[in-house]
Amino acid sequence: MPSPERQAAARAGATLEIDLAAIAANWRRLRKAVGKGVRLGAVVKADGYGLGAARVAPALAKAGCELFFVASLDEGLSLRRAVPRAEIAVFEGLPRGSEGEFARARLLPVLNDLGQVDAWRRFAGRGRARRGAVLHLDTGMQRLGLSRAETARLVDEPARLDGIALAAIMSHLACSDEPEHPKNPEQLARFRAALAKLPRAPASLASSSGIFLGPDYHFDIVRPGAALYGINPLPGKANPMQPVVRLNARILQVRDVDAGETVGYGATHRLDRPSRVATIAVGYADGWLRSGSERGGAAIAGQRVPVIGRISMDLVTLDVTGIDARLARAGGSVELLGRHQSVDEAAEAANTIGYEFLTLLGRRYARIYRGMR
Ligand SMILES: *Cc1c(COP(=O)(O)O)cnc(C)c1O
Repeated sequence: MPSPERQAAARAGATLEIDLAAIAANWRRLRKAVGKGVRLGAVVKADGYGLGAARVAPALAKAGCELFFVASLDEGLSLRRAVPRAEIAVFEGLPRGSEGEFARARLLPVLNDLGQVDAWRRFAGRGRARRGAVLHLDTGMQRLGLSRAETARLVDEPARLDGIALAAIMSHLACSDEPEHPKNPEQLARFRAALAKLPRAPASLASSSGIFLGPDYHFDIVRPGAALYGINPLPGKANPMQPVVRLNARILQVRDVDAGETVGYGATHRLDRPSRVATIAVGYADGWLRSGSERGGAAIAGQRVPVIGRISMDLVTLDVTGIDARLARAGGSVELLGRHQSVDEAAEAANTIGYEFLTLLGRRYARIYRGMR
């Protein structure tokens, strides 16, 4: 009897395979990159970058990860069920009135302004034990975290941290994927200067690409996300990470089309020769972005087949002229992500980055998790 997962895959228009062993291997790869003294967390926000935090986080916990980061309180609450013992920090911080929920689920709020610092201290003051939190300093992104002025006030008024156990002081780099960018050493210097004036706590600056900026950027805790999921943390260089996802779509129809006919909405693609066109069961509603129309491609038995015409909601048309008809046939399979096309490459063809492409991968795929039970 095939598993329900397998049965769903047999029916589905497309199957997304997620290799949990590869995610664990990537975590260990980063473990080597930072060395023993540095604590390696894992960012599993946006449902594990779209791959399913409830499956990804336990796999990482099994590999040794004890510290996770999510974006929101709700993500934290559901992750708590998946990894009952791990530390979980919530980047978006402390929504008004949510202190009790954070405490009950043992979530660490990332305190992003002095108002949140004060709210957490007041809440901590009601209990006997100190309450854990992460303090976030903005060192140049102007996005989230205490501004320079707020950081200066906190330095002058350290009692505002009374009752708060600082699990970490963190900041975030704007340009870590550009190793030569002057913003990197500038943020590093600002971070160091702030740390020197604040109470001692484990410090954290680097995410995936930041790890590869070298040991100056590692501090006590690193927070990789993308690299765990196989996205290249070194754009323009060889990817040191293992690929994690494979996406295969089913061919619904193949047709022979005369020269001069057009393909798809808007009749944007005119065939200049007699062609074979294959239609697959994936579209922009599955995250196969419309911006990849006329640009992207797929592979059949390792041979590239370009997208022709516009990508529509549920369907993509491919030029399979010249591909063996035993392969390019209704019911046959096309590789969209895998050995012949990485997430980063598919993203580039759609004019975006691997992060966006991965997190937008759709909910209609049959999902198969490999590499761990
Ligand atoms: C998303 C995020 C990370 C992880 O970044 P990657 O580039 O995916 O490794 C780390 N820190 C913060 C604050 C983030 O928002």
